[in-house]
Amino acid sequence: MSDQPAYAASWYTETMVASPERGALTSDIDVDVCIVGAGLAGLTTALELARRGWSVAVLEARRIAWNASGRNTGFVLPGFAQSMDAVVRRVGLDHARQLWTLSEAGLNYVRRTIREIAMPGVDPSPGWLQVSKSDDVDHDLALVRLIGQELGGAIEGWPAERVREVLRSSHYFHAIHFPTAFHIHPLNYALGLATAVEAAGARIFEATPVLSIDADGVRKRVTTPSASLRADHIVLAGNVHLGKVMRRVAGTLLPVWTYVATTAPLGARLADAIIYSGAVSDTDLADNHYRVVGGDRLMWSGGMTTWERNPRRFGGRLKSDIQRIYPQLGEIDIDHVWTGVLGNTIHRMPQIGELLPRVWLVSGFGGHGLNTTAMAGNLVARAIAEGDDTWRLFQPYELVWAGGRIGRAMAQVHYWWFHAREVAKAREAQKRAEEFRRNEQRPDASAELEEPIEVPPVAPEQAGRTLAEQASAAHPVNESRKMASTSAAPADPQFVSRNKGRAPKTNDLAGVVPASDAMDEERAAVRKRKSARNAKRNRPLDTENV
Ligand SMILES: Cc1cc2nc3c(=O)[nH]c(=O)nc-3n(C[C@H](O)[C@H](O)[C@H](O)COP(=O)(O)OP(=O)(O)OC[C@H]3O[C@@H](n4cnc5c(N)ncnc54)[C@H](O)[C@@H]3O)c2cc1C
Repeated sequence: MSDQPAYAASWYTETMVASPERGALTSDIDVDVCIVGAGLAGLTTALELARRGWSVAVLEARRIAWNASGRNTGFVLPGFAQSMDAVVRRVGLDHARQLWTLSEAGLNYVRRTIREIAMPGVDPSPGWLQVSKSDDVDHDLALVRLIGQELGGAIEGWPAERVREVLRSSHYFHAIHFPTAFHIHPLNYALGLATAVEAAGARIFEATPVLSIDADGVRKRVTTPSASLRADHIVLAGNVHLGKVMRRVAGTLLPVWTYVATTAPLGARLADAIIYSGAVSDTDLADNHYRVVGGDRLMWSGGMTTWERNPRRFGGRLKSDIQRIYPQLGEIDIDHVWTGVLGNTIHRMPQIGELLPRVWLVSGFGGHGLNTTAMAGNLVARAIAEGDDTWRLFQPYELVWAGGRIGRAMAQVHYWWFHAREVAKAREAQKRAEEFRRNEQRPDASAELEEPIEVPPVAPEQAGRTLAEQASAAHPVNESRKMASTSAAPADPQFVSRNKGRAPKTNDLAGVVPASDAMDEERAAVRKRKSARNAKRNRPLDTENV
């Protein structure tokens, strides 16, 4: 039996492609660049440097993609862990547009690399639906407009009716669809990258923890248990496990464990419940990100802890989350549960740049690392090989201490609070929908609804504005920026208004026109529901969303 560190058991390890074990570093070597960590960030940097003719060694403490890179849910999305409206607020619209474009370049890099290398077992499948469990459309509508019209991203607003055609759950209302996103088998992608790294001439050493780095001087010295290495450049790609090698850098990451399960095969039951073949998320938290894998299994992630817990304890919780959203699946068995740890920064943006002369950092990708590790690897490789300084676009996002144990405790409490708030909002939306249904079923319902409803007073500053303008005022993105009104939205008949067609089955959708008219209709319908409910209760209307 091998004495190599083992991968944690998961559905990914059960379905991984054959990949040779790489030996440890046992004799001293000299290279141009030493990369610490063979996760996706380290591997992409290595590939892009080796392709440019540099001599590269990757030192990995355990196995290739042993941590987050080989255990994540496999969603390859545009953007960052931080929401784009917050990015715009922080750096301004022009700068944010450049960052968004870089994030899309990362996504396209992953897609292209899978295709160029003809990677086995990666199985890319298009689309990401970010579904709302609340009927409050305003925030999502503003986001569709920001990304679609201001940042130039491919994005669509889907009304509840269309969402429920492909995700048969009464918990769901409208959704945002990202047609260029896709999902993959991340461990096989990482192993495919490793093969390409070696084919390009770089070396990977597993079971080789870096113990210390002497970064002074022109040639940097890296110490491992059996040998040392000298290099002109060092790239730190160790994520939360960097630890005492660079303690102060490690202290800028908040470790967050999330939990993933796959069900036993569900057969036709699953095909009846989930028709959509892309990835799905129904919260902004770690909870409820899922996709169909292996034909008829459901992969589902959820739970978040800032200290590691035994993943088995989360099997029951994930199972009941699945059954709550899709009760029609009936009894289900969980075949695999595992956990992985990601590194969150305080500002939720990645750490990319030169720490000390010729010591580079690619880290802090949070739960949004599949596109951003690819982006960061390319940026740093270009910086080292070509002196390109595009990475400086990330300079506003500095290294910020994550608060140690207190920071972890606060993050845990924030998660619980956020989770409780989401549950309450979802419950309210369900109540409104239920009451509306009951009203509609009553014989006198239409008459009642046609009765004039007391219209809430419109705030003077809102008078004369379109709904879209009001939404944008309610969720300002930037003081100097005005959200385009609905009437200005491009009208592509394929995507506008109650479109009953399926999501496009292609990844090549660079020309997709953003559309949100259907969500505007949804907004009006929700307002009607709220009005009907409030009128029935004979109390003043809720003016929150007016
Ligand atoms: C459960 C889970 C689900 C996720 N889902 C998604 C998703 O669907 N979409 C998405 O975009 N992102 C997702 N993420 C986030 C994404 O997986 C990570 O952001 C990304 O993989 C980070 O890659 P990395 O290379 O920076 O770090 P890692 O994958 O952690 O790799 C770092 C490597 O460095 C090695 N290392 C550390 N210190 C040393 C040292 N001193 N010497 C040698 N080696 C060292 C480690 O052993 C490790 O292998 C998820 C994360 C988790 C945990």
